[in-house]
Amino acid sequence: MTAHATRVLVLNSGSSSVKYQLLDMRDSSRLALGLVERIGEQDSRVTHTTLTPEGSEKRERKGPVADHTEALKVVSEELSRDGLGLDSPELLAVGHRVLHGGIELTDPTVVTDEVMATLERLRPLGPLHMPANIAGIRTARELRPDLPQVAVFDTAFHTTMPEYAYRYAIDVETADAHRIRRYGFHGTSHAYVSRRAAELLGRDPAEVNVIVLHLGNGASASAVAGGRCVDTSMGLTPLEGLVMGTRSGDIDPAVTFHLKRVAGMSVDEIDELLNKKSGLVGLCGDNDMREIRRRIDAGDERARLAFDIYIHRLKKYIGAYSAVLGRVDAVVFTAGVGENAAEVREAAVAGLEPLGLAVDAARNTVRSGEARIISPDDARVVVAVVPTDEELEIAQQTFALVGGARTVDA
Ligand code: ADP
Repeated sequence: MTAHATRVLVLNSGSSSVKYQLLDMRDSSRLALGLVERIGEQDSRVTHTTLTPEGSEKRERKGPVADHTEALKVVSEELSRDGLGLDSPELLAVGHRVLHGGIELTDPTVVTDEVMATLERLRPLGPLHMPANIAGIRTARELRPDLPQVAVFDTAFHTTMPEYAYRYAIDVETADAHRIRRYGFHGTSHAYVSRRAAELLGRDPAEVNVIVLHLGNGASASAVAGGRCVDTSMGLTPLEGLVMGTRSGDIDPAVTFHLKRVAGMSVDEIDELLNKKSGLVGLCGDNDMREIRRRIDAGDERARLAFDIYIHRLKKYIGAYSAVLGRVDAVVFTAGVGENAAEVREAAVAGLEPLGLAVDAARNTVRSGEARIISPDDARVVVAVVPTDEELEIAQQTFALVGGARTVDA
């Protein structure tokens, strides 16, 4: 008797962490999930949760995990303790979140040696994330050479942008020689959330125009027309666009020349300043929106200003993307801040009634993990909260690509 292998392991390898989830694609249920953090340090930590219909069991272990190769071995060991390891015959494939597909890799792709070579070439476009992504894929291939490894790219959803949206207004030859253009990121989230928003409206995604505001620690906005991305706020790298937890978002590029020439900073120092020490953390010392709200309530002026700058930028993008789309059917908030911070949603939409936008105070403050509409019934534009689920989207895309291709003896 044969049965289909139906499980997909989703791996999200960040610069110093690996997040993972094991899903059964028969019903999209989660069997296990976990996190390896502080990779490369002495106090690395592994948190693993096994999920069964009866409940969940959490385990934690501490101790050094040297690199991403070792991290993945630890993940496999943890999964194996419940018979769910990488060697399990029910495992169909591993789906890897990969930061950058460049212009070459625009669809979920089964990783071959040729794909690995392309990823290596794209490494300079994501110096922080690509080495981790590549190491995760390489190790998974070594551990299970027969298993399809599928790369799902953060840039993929944005490759439908028209050239007038993705091209920077700089010398064309210089730009093309160095692959300089807007790529956009968080694509898996924007794809999932814009599709779920259409479902929430009870309409075909091909008919709806949506502005998605993905507000996590990293943050980005996108304009989605009929299911296709037509503009997004992140650019060559995730630094452009909205004010984020630790990134500046949009600034005059001449700030960087000034920092070099006048402040005497090196390129690496400027990179660190704009990516790690800017945004909310640079403005007020905190990047957690809960803490910022608490400080505002206590009368803290710096926290107030940081919040106001964050909201001002968000409003500018809502306005810009309303103009880009012409007709907006829905504005959708997602990710840690977007899903949880009612004050951010209220402030971002305040005063935008001329654009047809409003939130209903009671609906906005309901706490829920479900997709929900927070605008009044008579609003011209639906404002909604849609929890993102990048792991599910990666698992579904992986399953769509390789599902059914493998069978195992039951
Ligand atoms: P990322 O995936 O980019 O690391 P998340 O989408 O998990 O980020 O978002 C993390 C951020 O969400 C936190 O830094 C915090 O600012 C915000 N956040 C999480 N929970 C809440 C909450 N209950 N209220 C307000 N903000 C929250």
